[in-house]
Amino acid sequence: MPELNLVLMGPPGAGKGTQADRLRDDFDLPYYATGDILRRAVEQESDLGNEAKQYMENGDLVPDDLICKVIMERVDSQEAEDGFLLDGFPRTRGQAETLEDALQKRDRALTAALIIEAPDEEVIRRLSGRRICKKNGHVYHVEFDPPKNEDVCDQDGSKLVQRDDDKPETVKKRLGVYHDQTEDLIDFYDERGLLRRFDGTRQPNEVHNHIRATLATLKLESEL
Ligand SMILES: [Zn+2]
Repeated sequence: MPELNLVLMGPPGAGKGTQADRLRDDFDLPYYATGDILRRAVEQESDLGNEAKQYMENGDLVPDDLICKVIMERVDSQEAEDGFLLDGFPRTRGQAETLEDALQKRDRALTAALIIEAPDEEVIRRLSGRRICKKNGHVYHVEFDPPKNEDVCDQDGSKLVQRDDDKPETVKKRLGVYHDQTEDLIDFYDERGLLRRFDGTRQPNEVHNHIRATLATLKLESEL
């Protein structure tokens, strides 16, 4: 049974979360979102979690090799025997190298790095149009899913607001950081023939079908 060891990449607002959910269902893969995994290690007070906690408490970034160790602890567990889906790591070329080494030591390798792409203008349009209800967090979009009355929640009548994270200036900044880090990462996986690109401006169903077809082909190829 060939493994399906995957990395998922893409800018905010390109639909990565939706696709991750579907991939988990399709292939029954454990999903490792870096932030969640780190938080869990800290909560469980494992040795690595305690080490990570010290960095976090000091307001420092957790070093790459420590993040990688925390992730590998999960990758080594039985649930990830047939594969895994990584989200949020690697973010940089250095992290990608660390991950590659760690997998090599285990006689494993990535099957593919999936990137869901969307142009900056589209990401800004999607994110900056979001409105959240103050009371219960119901989500709307001024263009794609507007409330009946402007700035009022249909369900509870509370006021709709734009989160700071969704303000165009903030989205642009986040995109800037994303591109700075990711360009190198994309090259890294492209050089290794692992990169698979998907058009995040398409309907989520179409993107999903495209990813499934790509992974099915990869699985077939690895069985030959
Ligand atoms: Zn509401």
